Amino acid sequence: MTLNDTAPCPACGEDALRPGTITFNLGREGETVRVENVPARICDACGDASLSAEVQTRLLTLGELIARGALNASVIDFSTGEASRA
Ligand SMILES: [Zn+2]
Repeated sequence: MTLNDTAPCPACGEDALRPGTITFNLGREGETVRVENVPARICDACGDASLSAEVQTRLLTLGELIARGALNASVIDFSTGEASRA
């Protein structure tokens, strides 16, 4: 898939889905961990973003680490795995 490829959007039906990155917020008892550079396919028409199964699994794993308090970070860079406190 190249950057110029588009695909039909599951939300609005427009042929406008493109690869990109989003920021995803994982919550933990009022504290929010910001996960940056999460790869997603984003719709140019309605703004809907869809994540691959692999990305969803990684986010779930991160969410579990955060819920257990095993990851003391407020910002995580998804592309590098680097965690930091802002
Ligand atoms: Zn759409």
